[in-house]
Amino acid sequence: MRKPVIDISECVLCDICVEMCPDIFIKNQAGYIEIADNVPDTVYQSLEDDINDVIKTCRGDCISWGEET
Ligand code: SF4
Repeated sequence: MRKPVIDISECVLCDICVEMCPDIFIKNQAGYIEIADNVPDTVYQSLEDDINDVIKTCRGDCISWGEET
């Protein structure tokens, strides 16, 4: 199942991803964005369109789909 990945070095911490898709993108205690743990594959499938919208909207242009696992 492919999952989104974030290039944190380009992230501008605009929080758009967290606002648009909070089931997948979370802000950790250090204040950085990360992909939520233990998200079932079915959730990625059902949110694929939402995640694609986030990828297009991301201010840092730093989210992409990772390799299939
Ligand atoms: S939308 Fe992109 S730039 Fe904004 S917080 Fe999320 S990963 Fe960072």
